[in-house]
Amino acid sequence: MESINPQSGKVIQTYSSATDEALQTRLRAAADEFQHWKLNSFPERAKLMHAAATLLRARKAELAELMADEMGKVIRDGIAEIEKCAGCCDYYAEHAHQFLQKQSIASDAQESYVAYDPLGVILAVMPWNFPFWQVFRFAAPALMAGNVGVLKHASNVSGCALAIEAVFKDAGFPAHAFSTLLVESSRVEALIRNPLVSAVTLTGSTPAGRSVAGIAGSELKKCVLELGGSDAYIVLEDADLDLAVDLCVKSRLINAGQSCIAAKRFIVVRPLRAEFEARYAEKFKAIRYGDPRDPATDIGPMARTDLRDQVHAQVMKSVEQGARLLVGGVVPDGPGAYYPATVLAGVKPGMTAFDDEIFGPVAAIIEADDEEHAIALANQSVFGLGAALFTRDRDKADRLARRIEAGCVFINSFVKSDPRLPFGGIKQSGFGRELSWFGIQEFVNIKTVYHA
Ligand code: NDP
Repeated sequence: MESINPQSGKVIQTYSSATDEALQTRLRAAADEFQHWKLNSFPERAKLMHAAATLLRARKAELAELMADEMGKVIRDGIAEIEKCAGCCDYYAEHAHQFLQKQSIASDAQESYVAYDPLGVILAVMPWNFPFWQVFRFAAPALMAGNVGVLKHASNVSGCALAIEAVFKDAGFPAHAFSTLLVESSRVEALIRNPLVSAVTLTGSTPAGRSVAGIAGSELKKCVLELGGSDAYIVLEDADLDLAVDLCVKSRLINAGQSCIAAKRFIVVRPLRAEFEARYAEKFKAIRYGDPRDPATDIGPMARTDLRDQVHAQVMKSVEQGARLLVGGVVPDGPGAYYPATVLAGVKPGMTAFDDEIFGPVAAIIEADDEEHAIALANQSVFGLGAALFTRDRDKADRLARRIEAGCVFINSFVKSDPRLPFGGIKQSGFGRELSWFGIQEFVNIKTVYHA
């Protein structure tokens, strides 16, 4: 498996894929470790998790460089990502005990209660876009609950995968409480089917999620899926337009547009559409792509050239279907998986930019007749991850939020994940929840204990 610098196109390092024997040895060691790890007290686990947070903070500069090299993330964003991971470790170190305390429930018994027991070895199949955050938001709750983790990371970020394993080991976790398995996606099926693996979580594309869910289903193993999204940002007539434009621009460009919860479809009611479009395009024109190490860079290269080419093909297809290209839309000459900040206007259902997820710095502006039409357009999607609403009317916002088919609705803000709040989608964006109290409940046995 190769790590290729998306800025230069040069191979950074080649990793050999683990043999079947090596994988079996690792899974066996993880399963053996589980028998010890699950018996540790919460304070013992918390001490190690806080140590992982401290190490992450100490290493944030070098880990941000690694992300810049392997997938093109701008350095300041990489540092922020590592700090967020450290915060997540601290959060679960502090709260896991309370989240998993036994809960008494009155029944016919003298005493009955629910206890939360860990499940075992949890397989995490993770993507390259937030190579640390996606892993830590799984690992911090899973390990604090008493599970052990094995990671199959995306093939283009093996350096990040090994660096995560090193953080846990160097923080003092037992050697097999968290380990990285260097394997291609074709080996995931055998891993899920391995009797030593208890459950699986995947963050990635909808096709990958479909495959993992099918295999996990046939093995009757629990799975959590966090898949793609095409988040609608609805701008209503009473919106603060300055705020809406600013946040809609910011959200679309997070991580060069390669985020499942980036704003993707901007649904603006007719009276504001032209003004929104003009201001939005103006801001996109000023966006500089370039070297992720240069502090003046707004967006770095995309993670791989094949992903960049796929985004460009989606833009071209949308234009053929009638969308108006306002900004960008041209693949730059020279090396690097660069794609310019691009705005498509006049986007309608049936066009690629409306129907599919575009995983890059491409905004689709859609005009709605009115509020009702805006909600209908937002829900006219196979995805249901996040959404945002811009309005000054709080009551209306609450009412409309309940009608939007998504795992979260942010009002006058852009969608972001926060360890304190549950995160996940509906429809083809997946199922199950990560983060918060809800996330730590996904990989535990909710056990009823009954005293007659
Ligand atoms: P994938 O979904 O293919 O990759 C994500 C992870 O899943 C990687 O570890 C990958 O391994 C693994 N994987 C891929 N196919 C399978 C499979 N059939 N069974 C089990 N595991 C699998 O994403 P891509 O990198 O190809 O990106 C393609 C698209 O996916 C993007 O354009 C975007 O739409 C979406 N995506 C969504 C993300 C999100 O945050 N929701 C994150 C990344 C991508 P390997 O790298 O070895 O193939």
